[in-house]
Amino acid sequence: MRFEYDPENIFAKILRGEIPNKTVLETEHSLAFEDISAQAPVHVLLIPKGAYVSYDHFARDASDAEILDFNRAMAKICETVGVEDGFRAITNARRDGVQEVPHFHLHILAGRPLGRMLERG
Ligand code: 5GP
Repeated sequence: MRFEYDPENIFAKILRGEIPNKTVLETEHSLAFEDISAQAPVHVLLIPKGAYVSYDHFARDASDAEILDFNRAMAKICETVGVEDGFRAITNARRDGVQEVPHFHLHILAGRPLGRMLERG
């Protein structure tokens, strides 16, 4: 698989400070911020600072340090945003995954019953 990163995507602009965000956590290699269109009381987006298009791209090409940082950031977010009653972590990729922003991101959703994982059909 060949991954082509578009540096003009909205999350790249957030990382460059060109667009404001409500930061939840920043680490050496990762940034977490509130989704602009929250679908649950907690809706955080966790992204790597590196130029990765999707989860499979990140998992294949990111350094060990980036992957560790991302996962530890995920745990820190869960400790701080209130996921005692459960949460859902989602990452969409490409057309069939209906990915809108082509910079790898993990949605962390919590704060209400989240229903079934997928619509049938
Ligand atoms: P995707 O469909 O790519 O998995 O999700 C993209 C997410 O990015 C959506 O939930 C959308 O609300 C969020 N989003 C799009 N533009 C912005 C923005 O400018 N700022 C923030 N914080 N979130 C955004």
